[in-house]
Amino acid sequence: AGQTELTDPELDELRAMFHGPLITPEDPGYDESRVMHNGMFDRRPGLIVRCAGPADVMGAVRVARERDLLVAVRGGGHGIAGHSVCDNGLMIDLSAMRGVWTNPAERIVRVQGGALWADVDREAQTFGLAVPGGVVSTTGVAGLTLGGGLGWLHRKYGLTCDNLIAAEVVTADGRLVRASSTEHEELFWALRGGGGNFGVVTAFEFQAHPVGPAVMFGCAMYAAEDAEEVLPAWRDWTAGLPDEVTSRILFWTMPATPLLPPEVHDRDVLIVAAVHAGSPDEGAPALRPIGRFGTPLADLSGPAPFREVQRNLDFMFPKGQLRSYWKSVTVNELGDDVLDVLLRRGLNRPHPRTLVHAPQMGGAVRRAGPADTAHGDRSAAFIVSIDGNWTDADDDAATMQWVRDGFDEIQALPSTAGTYLNFSGDRDLDNAAKQAAFGRNLDRLAGIKRDFDPENRFRLNNNIQPAMA
Ligand code: FAD
Repeated sequence: AGQTELTDPELDELRAMFHGPLITPEDPGYDESRVMHNGMFDRRPGLIVRCAGPADVMGAVRVARERDLLVAVRGGGHGIAGHSVCDNGLMIDLSAMRGVWTNPAERIVRVQGGALWADVDREAQTFGLAVPGGVVSTTGVAGLTLGGGLGWLHRKYGLTCDNLIAAEVVTADGRLVRASSTEHEELFWALRGGGGNFGVVTAFEFQAHPVGPAVMFGCAMYAAEDAEEVLPAWRDWTAGLPDEVTSRILFWTMPATPLLPPEVHDRDVLIVAAVHAGSPDEGAPALRPIGRFGTPLADLSGPAPFREVQRNLDFMFPKGQLRSYWKSVTVNELGDDVLDVLLRRGLNRPHPRTLVHAPQMGGAVRRAGPADTAHGDRSAAFIVSIDGNWTDADDDAATMQWVRDGFDEIQALPSTAGTYLNFSGDRDLDNAAKQAAFGRNLDRLAGIKRDFDPENRFRLNNNIQPAMA
């Protein structure tokens, strides 16, 4: 890759061209700008362009091309593998592009490429609408959407990428194109699950749905020691759930914070949680069993504003303070063999913030076909994600190995299908991981990559190699 070191006149010329600030290692604010959510990544880009709009993004891509610079694209900065920051090279930073506009009549929400889910929820909920997003509101819309996207509404309304109706993209040649079901259809297909490979998305247009303002939120916290009884009871319950309900379990340790009842302070817990996407009146009976799989330490279930539900895990993920390495497996069924691994891993986590997480899939996610979007496998009944989060760099190697061992254990079981790349901390994906994620879609993705980014300019991502010409 080329050099980011620029002479003063060159820098002046660039500063005059960009509307947003150009940030070099000498500028104030440089260190703040390179902090990622995952505290493992202390990388130093040669140049950061904090884009003010699509014109700046087009300019930044052209500069990268002319100077042959390595490019990192930063949306919300939550990527587990730390791809959105680089050493040397150019960071195209979209964190100042967080505008959201709602069209209530058509239920369309238009979102700039650097927005967070909190931005979308604020605007859309004002009109009684929601776009299916993630479960932590500080996560970026861009990375989550491009990698699929699951949260509290996916069983009712599909993955986040299934709700994308158009995107505006700056491609590797510096052009701005619009992709939808009628324009650049192949690019549109690839953006729905194929990650950041195809260009920088400056705007997303989503189909939104009526949700809230209050929804029924179910959340029972059981002592982790009781998991052997609770887990199978939860699994059996999920078999008969309507699509309105999206449920998950999490093994975690609750901190002693006034946000939580004293009964769970410093306790290892198994959380059984769910959201019902209809009215709280319908949701209450549907979610009542959540507190009855045993005797919970605390049951926080109740009607809650949807925005609050979207934010209630945020405090567990302080920006830059945790080191993270996650790996996930999709499973066709939650057999006793899978539960056994979940239980053993859940009860022996190496750090209080490390969690073992299993969201239920199915419903609307499964109704789309595997070739409808780039996001490959849709058959999964559940995802099992081993989410290593810790604080001390000395624990890096051991915790990452613990995550890999858990992943290998589950992957060795007969019911496993694929992997979910948004929950992946691996910087370089091997071919097996790409096959597991994209399946038969991989060849088509490689062809689209060749058409839109033949030189692999956008390679800091879950990278798809361009097909041979
Ligand atoms: P970034 O680090 O900014 O970007 C990640 C990658 O996406 C970049 O390397 C780039 O390749 C690409 N990218 C980012 N912006 C753009 C853009 N504008 N145009 C083109 N490419 C771009 N995932 C879920 O599905 N559901 C969840 O509930 C969920 N919860 C999470 C909670 C936490 C605390 C964390 C850390 C992650 C969570 N994730 C979840 C995973 C999340 O989807 C991914 O980490 C995703 O990459 C985050 O997107 P971002 O824009 O914040 O990340």
